[in-house]
Amino acid sequence: MSSDDRTLLRGFRDGFEWESVERLPYKEAGEAPFKAISRQVLFSDPALECELRYFEMQPSGFSTLERHEHAHGVMILRGHGSCLVGQEVRKVKPFDLVSIPAWTWHQFRATAKEPLGFLCMVNARRDKPQLPSEDELRMLKSDARVAAFLGGSGGA
Ligand code: MN
Repeated sequence: MSSDDRTLLRGFRDGFEWESVERLPYKEAGEAPFKAISRQVLFSDPALECELRYFEMQPSGFSTLERHEHAHGVMILRGHGSCLVGQEVRKVKPFDLVSIPAWTWHQFRATAKEPLGFLCMVNARRDKPQLPSEDELRMLKSDARVAAFLGGSGGA
């Protein structure tokens, strides 16, 4: 948790950064497959039951394909790309809202042209994400649109 979470105002800066907020690696290297993505924890105050994070992927970057018991509420803030939620593949643009229910496979991909950044609201106390098994991946890819998405086209 940042010690500055309860500061009344932390200014927005050029480059999608905020005062007193560190830009961190998305996950520990080698923990799960992902590409060119950073994490900034905007709110992680024990007085709140949730956290708000800002994730940003570079062009052609993507988040980990995962699922877990906790849900996510996502708002796209910059760039264009696509997301997988369950068996649905959708294009996303700034200020779109994406709901990710419990135990639903999800992944975000930036287009090749620009970074994709989004806010992600999540429970402060939450379970660890699961990665798909070979069988689960095969099942997901049985849908042609999902297979194309996971192939890395980025939905440009
Ligand atoms: Mn997740």
